[in-house]
Amino acid sequence: MSITATDVRAWIGDFAGVIAEQRMYLVRLDTAIGDGDHGTNMDRGMKAAVEKLETVEGDDVGALLKAVGMALVSKVGGAAGPLYGTLFLQMGTAAAGQEELDLAGWTAALEAGVKGVQARGKAEPEDKTMIDALLPAVAALHAAEGEGASLGDALRRSADAAQQGMEATTPLVARKGRASYLGERSAGHQDPGATSSHMLLVAAAERFS
Ligand code: ADP
Ligand code: MG
Repeated sequence: MSITATDVRAWIGDFAGVIAEQRMYLVRLDTAIGDGDHGTNMDRGMKAAVEKLETVEGDDVGALLKAVGMALVSKVGGAAGPLYGTLFLQMGTAAAGQEELDLAGWTAALEAGVKGVQARGKAEPEDKTMIDALLPAVAALHAAEGEGASLGDALRRSADAAQQGMEATTPLVARKGRASYLGERSAGHQDPGATSSHMLLVAAAERFS
């Protein structure tokens, strides 16, 4: 089992579809602790990413991921555009020239992407950001890989870990991004970026397994 360029195109299309469906849910989450634009930001960015992918030929998984990152960086402002853009750009750099990713390749790419998000946004675990969903997902992939799990199993475990990380953002006080301006009042709300990151990993688990 491996992840091909066709799979990656389908995954991005799936994620764009989920974001479009869940746009108002993400807006509501961001209205509680931010400025209410996370759903519209992500929807605009992912629609641009899908359009951009139609112009990219070939089977280089890295090139596809980079194109997604570039679309997000150029079409989405605020925090999430550059951060999601970096996630995909760094995944693309890690996967450059590869036509297929196996579990090790996917894990390496996602890890590089998440490191990029951390380098750019300086968020640590429990700062109540997308990092709280993404880092546990990478850890779960490594654990699954170490146990010789199948790609599908590993992806499901990473999506489950992202879900736990996302849910665990609710009681946290935000230390990064707009939500941090609220201080203690940010507690009691699930982080929007962790929520969209969970959706990204669920889409991967459903599409690649
Ligand atoms: P903005 O905050 O500019 O309105 P969005 O609403 O689209 O942008 O995205 C908000 C999300 O971005 C937050 O829920 C959080 O997960 C994520 N985020 C904000 N700042 C950071 C950061 N420094 N590092 C990682 N993620 C961050
Ligand atoms: Mg916002």
